[in-house]
Amino acid sequence: MSTLPTRADTVIIGAGIVGNSLAYHLAKLGRRDIVLLDKGTLPNPGGSTGHASNFIFPTDHSKEMTALTLDSVAQYQELGVFTQSGGIEVARTPERMQELTRRMASSRSWGIESELLDPAGVKALVPFLDESIILGGFHTPTVGVVDSLRAGTIMRERAIEMGALTISAGTEVLGLDVVDGRITRVRTDKGDIEATTVVVACGAWSPRIARMAGASIPLSPAVHQMISVGPVPQFADTVGEIVFPIVRDMDTNMYERQHGGDLEVGSYAHRPILMEADDIPSIAASALSPTELPFTQEDFELQMEQALELVPDILGDERVGIRYAINGLLSLTPDGMPILGETPEVKGLWSCAAVWIKEAPGIARAVAEWMVHGEPEIDLHGSDIARFHEHQQTTAHVNARTAEGFNKTYGIVHPMEQWASNRNVRLSPVHKRQVELGAEFFEAAGWERPFWYGANESLLAEFGERVTRREAEWESRWWSPIISAEHLAMRERAAMIDLAAFVIFDVTGRGSLDYLQGLVVAQMDVPVGRVVYTPLLSEDGGIFADLTIMRLAHDRFRVVTGGGMGMRDKKWFVDHLPADGSAQLFDATSAWYTLGIWGPRARDVLASVTSDDVSNEGFPFGTCRVIQIGSVRALASRISYVGELGWEMYVPMEQGLKLWDTLWEAGQAHGVIAAGIGVYAVTGRIEKGYRAHGAELELEYDLVEAGMVRPKVKAADFVGKAAYLAQRDAAPAAILCTLTLDDPRSSSGVARYMLGREPILGLDGSSLIDAKGRRSYVTSAGAGPSVGKHLLMSYLPPAQAVVGTKLLVEYMGERFPVSVAVAGATPLFDPENDRVRS
Ligand SMILES: Cc1cc2nc3c(=O)[nH]c(=O)nc-3n(C[C@H](O)[C@H](O)[C@H](O)COP(=O)(O)OP(=O)(O)OC[C@H]3O[C@@H](n4cnc5c(N)ncnc54)[C@H](O)[C@@H]3O)c2cc1C
Repeated sequence: MSTLPTRADTVIIGAGIVGNSLAYHLAKLGRRDIVLLDKGTLPNPGGSTGHASNFIFPTDHSKEMTALTLDSVAQYQELGVFTQSGGIEVARTPERMQELTRRMASSRSWGIESELLDPAGVKALVPFLDESIILGGFHTPTVGVVDSLRAGTIMRERAIEMGALTISAGTEVLGLDVVDGRITRVRTDKGDIEATTVVVACGAWSPRIARMAGASIPLSPAVHQMISVGPVPQFADTVGEIVFPIVRDMDTNMYERQHGGDLEVGSYAHRPILMEADDIPSIAASALSPTELPFTQEDFELQMEQALELVPDILGDERVGIRYAINGLLSLTPDGMPILGETPEVKGLWSCAAVWIKEAPGIARAVAEWMVHGEPEIDLHGSDIARFHEHQQTTAHVNARTAEGFNKTYGIVHPMEQWASNRNVRLSPVHKRQVELGAEFFEAAGWERPFWYGANESLLAEFGERVTRREAEWESRWWSPIISAEHLAMRERAAMIDLAAFVIFDVTGRGSLDYLQGLVVAQMDVPVGRVVYTPLLSEDGGIFADLTIMRLAHDRFRVVTGGGMGMRDKKWFVDHLPADGSAQLFDATSAWYTLGIWGPRARDVLASVTSDDVSNEGFPFGTCRVIQIGSVRALASRISYVGELGWEMYVPMEQGLKLWDTLWEAGQAHGVIAAGIGVYAVTGRIEKGYRAHGAELELEYDLVEAGMVRPKVKAADFVGKAAYLAQRDAAPAAILCTLTLDDPRSSSGVARYMLGREPILGLDGSSLIDAKGRRSYVTSAGAGPSVGKHLLMSYLPPAQAVVGTKLLVEYMGERFPVSVAVAGATPLFDPENDRVRS
């Protein structure tokens, strides 16, 4: 079993559930000459997989994670290692009950059968639970447990049968060689293997292994305490591993799960106990295994009391004793998502880390597709290793965020919730002005961005009834009516918006035009001074990204993209650079400050501080040029993401404050205000139906469906062109629509406003499913202050994508009437785009 070849195509390090699943899926996709290494012995080499509780709850608010989990369940079923038990998330508090209604909505959005139960209903399914301390439960019949070690064994065996896999257990990786930025060799205690592709599937050890190659996998090994008690008399007559539904006691951050004659109790409630990957003990030094650390009883005490409240008949029974107790190790990441994909630092070195058993086979399939075909079927942008900015890879950041995130494992996390730890990392040059204006800072890519300004409270009186108020506490969190007031002030006068979080890279060189032509959909062979908004496609024609590019010279372009996915976009650009060096890319993010000014008075403000021609004729929409603004030279770009006349201005970072002050002072005479990202990214955008990456724009949808086709297709070839041409010739399976909320009143008379990801249903309550099997859900939601409605965007099947169609949206356990206001790309506000072009 343990023969180590000297060469291989692909080496996978780590034979936990992830490494095994990946070996299998690579083999299925035709890859051969794969070597799977683990320092431990098989089938249980000592990683987290060997002692997991192995259960799977499919519903997650994240579409990406749910899709990966559902695929994993199907795979486990096919392998014959899945036992369906059902699972119930119980609520002890009214707030949790409300959260369970949100989970119902997510279940329906992603197509998972589930129901809400009252305490008696929970008791009927879990008789050993004290129903008097709960208010109800969220029951998912398809929850189950898997035999993850057996699954791994079967997958290895299948890969071997396909002639694709060599396994070397008891082989420790000691080093990784990199030559010219490319992985070349894996060094082990049994010898070296030359390889062109290496995958780090090392769970909690992954940062350590990546570091051997100079790469970063920013996760933190963290303790999750679990005990097993038994023998449980109530389970004496049960057959097999599990009969009773698994209970997640969400408000106390713990779970109770039958395991044969025992009951496992796991906790995410204790203090965060983080480790360094280098400090995980060796196999020889471990009493049980390296990831089963000695149990620290004192950390579990409160949890034990809470567990006793819920299952007193079992835990209060003196015959039931603790049989097993560990501080188990798992991996936490700074944003709670897995870390997948080729590392930006080293070509050919891939990460498949921070993956749970519940999603492992699905992730393995997707990563294998990515490795073999260049892209996965399920969009993995939320898990892409390339998403991390520099500071997000520091130990200080990783530890701060994982410590904060640990107790949110079962937490009620608001969609807009902000992190409290490690803030103020990236400050805009105008930060002190923003503080003076009472900015409410939200974080984007480490930047502190005002979401609204407290100083604008006075606008509430000015706009009176036109400002929507929110009555329900949930939607009022991380929100202010000031956003709507800022929006209206922008539409009537003008607003300055800080855009420091943009990621900016310059593309230069004689080959830069050809390079960009080959990468983006839009025509880039445009005159110098033109600004081009363009999508980027995957080879299969899915939407990879959207961004703007300015042509600054015949051989110089500036690419501007959002902070959130900017680093992922950058990797895409870097990966496609021509091999002959005829185009180069320089990340200029920290060099340029971006300030936007939009609104009908924007020109008046600008004209008052520049002698350059900023008239419509002199500075038309879609162009850019350097102008003088007081004593600052700014690259001004006439585009808009809020549907108003105005400019984005780029100045050297250290001159940002001067630019702000100059425009601010000049703007006072024109009623200019500072507006936050709440206007830029939500209200202004959604009224105009502008699409956002990660919401409307994903690999899963195409440009025809998104309503983003252009009349002409350029002659030059580009990534995804063939697929795009085929899509243009076919009828779309779904059409992106804007819907209005017809009546926000709930049954209790409180106005409710959806926040996004809720299911859109037919009037009979049925799910809308398109010809590709995709369900309709709210991709973006927000107030439309200028149109006086709450707006939702959603892909609908063509039959429903008709203006005037009446539908329902499910939110917080109720259904609300909505109407299709726009089918396709025409904006609801200013449909002729007169304002932008004025
Ligand atoms: C107590 C507990 C309960 C859990 N319960 C659940 C659950 O119910 N459901 C769920 O979905 N998830 C659960 N998890 C999480 C789950 O166990 C992990 O997310 C999952 O097992 C990770 O799998 P992996 O293959 O990435 O890592 P691992 O299983 O840890 O495998 C990594 C492998 O890399 C090997 N390796 C490391 N360094 C080297 C080296 N230098 N050379 C060679 N090999 C090396 C290790 O030996 C190890 O075998 C639980 C975790 C814990 C701690």
